[in-house]
Amino acid sequence: MNRADLFERLADTATDWDVIVIGGGATGLGVAVDAATRGYRTLLLEQADFGQGTSSRSTKLVHGGVRYLRNGEIGLVRDSLRERGRLLKNAPNLVGALPFVVPGFRWYERAYYGIGLTLYDVLAGKLGIDKTRHLSRDAVLERIPNLTSDGLHGGTLYWDGQFDDARLCVALARTAIQQGATVLNHVKVTELLRKGDRLSGVVAVDQLSGKEYRAEGKVIVNATGVFSDAVRKLDRPEGGDIIEPSQGIHLVLDREFLGGDTAIMIPKTDDGRVLFAIPWHDRVVLGTTDTPNVPVELEPRPQEDEIDYLVEHAGRYLAKAPTHDDIRATFAGLRPLVRPKSDAGSTAAISRDHSLFVSDSGLVTIAGGKWTTYRKMAEDTVGRAAQVGGLPTQPCRTADLPLLDRPAAETELGEIEPAWREKLDPAFPWRIADVVAAVRHEMACTADDVLSRRTRLSFLDEAAAARAKPRVEEILERERT
Ligand SMILES: Cc1cc2nc3c(=O)[nH]c(=O)nc-3n(C[C@H](O)[C@H](O)[C@H](O)COP(=O)(O)OP(=O)(O)OC[C@H]3O[C@@H](n4cnc5c(N)ncnc54)[C@H](O)[C@@H]3O)c2cc1C
Repeated sequence: MNRADLFERLADTATDWDVIVIGGGATGLGVAVDAATRGYRTLLLEQADFGQGTSSRSTKLVHGGVRYLRNGEIGLVRDSLRERGRLLKNAPNLVGALPFVVPGFRWYERAYYGIGLTLYDVLAGKLGIDKTRHLSRDAVLERIPNLTSDGLHGGTLYWDGQFDDARLCVALARTAIQQGATVLNHVKVTELLRKGDRLSGVVAVDQLSGKEYRAEGKVIVNATGVFSDAVRKLDRPEGGDIIEPSQGIHLVLDREFLGGDTAIMIPKTDDGRVLFAIPWHDRVVLGTTDTPNVPVELEPRPQEDEIDYLVEHAGRYLAKAPTHDDIRATFAGLRPLVRPKSDAGSTAAISRDHSLFVSDSGLVTIAGGKWTTYRKMAEDTVGRAAQVGGLPTQPCRTADLPLLDRPAAETELGEIEPAWREKLDPAFPWRIADVVAAVRHEMACTADDVLSRRTRLSFLDEAAAARAKPRVEEILERERT
């Protein structure tokens, strides 16, 4: 992933791209992988870093979505479970199986959730991970030592997938490039070009150098998540909005707040939301919220009442309850939900299925969906984009395509200076060598790229990230010269 080489390809105005993708989150990167593997000349431009939007701020679950069963969205759950199975197979180093317990505090809950989660297993079919089963009260507490034992009857154990979302973004970028795509971060599309009444390309600006580029292409895909409407307005300023953003936040706590390697899933808090406490990178991620009417921005911030809600609700289920002082980090993300035609009530009730829109001038917008279903979303999008752009029909080839993981820094760098073996922070695994490899081989351009998305230090421990930042900036400076 050499940025300078990729810029050379972008600067070559003789290239007539088949597919130009705007947005380098899960959706856009998935589209770039799919389009490139079908043999289309593919360009992807991301205004910030890969995954810097919603795709690094998820709950980190590759899942069917147990709660969508409650909404009766059987098709979405079945498709998601199929994609979960594919991801576990195609990216075994990036996606793993995680056990969850739904604790039962009322006598009927074990039976109720047992039935629902058995249906979940049935929908997963051959791609299922392991069987749902009942656990006694003691077995639940053995798995989750910090779960409150007050009123606990037992629980239901089920399995889902877990991943590092930002790392999977980088893996998709690597895979797209390996398949021949040109993929660049920190390049913002600022204008759409036209020939007659059809779109014919984009104007884009490198956000780091200020240099402007023009690229011509047969079809343009808008995969910009919550920014979809802003890009649609570059095409048709008077067009209406399709996105209804909803904010979800997470708190990161020390591992002792679970005490084991099993996650907790509370399907319905007393105000009807789902609550997860999940072991991740030796910490606990607690989430999430569903807050409508939030501004669309790249770095959304948790609201005080969202933090209070999570602290308070976690305290109802955990023996040692967290306080605000126990929070190591917080992060917020915006769900790019597609506005329903009729009033769906709360944003929690809006479907997580994806939708495709094609404008009169040929802009293909893919919106909604979930991380888990990015591949299927890409398959649908590229199929439609090929029709819109008049590209030769090619079958989708990603169902069994392995995704490229990051090799060890030693392998990537060839040799490691002794000083590079030092850790960025003693409590976390990342070393200076990982920072150097991220800059040289993974297009990390800023300290935030390194601290938030090549390593996950900012997401896990804000104080540790602040301490490491000057060191990372020093390495970036040295690598630039
Ligand atoms: C709190 C929360 C928890 C979630 N948890 C899960 C989960 O556990 N599992 C799951 O499957 N899904 C989950 N999701 C859903 C999932 O994270 C999203 O559906 C997915 O990340 C959306 O990806 P995207 O690529 O569409 O959007 P984004 O990741 O936001 O990517 C869009 C990109 O477009 C770029 N862009 C915008 N304008 C321009 C421009 N003009 N030029 C160039 N680039 C531009 C942005 O910078 C951004 O990076 C969760 C979502 C939230 C908010």
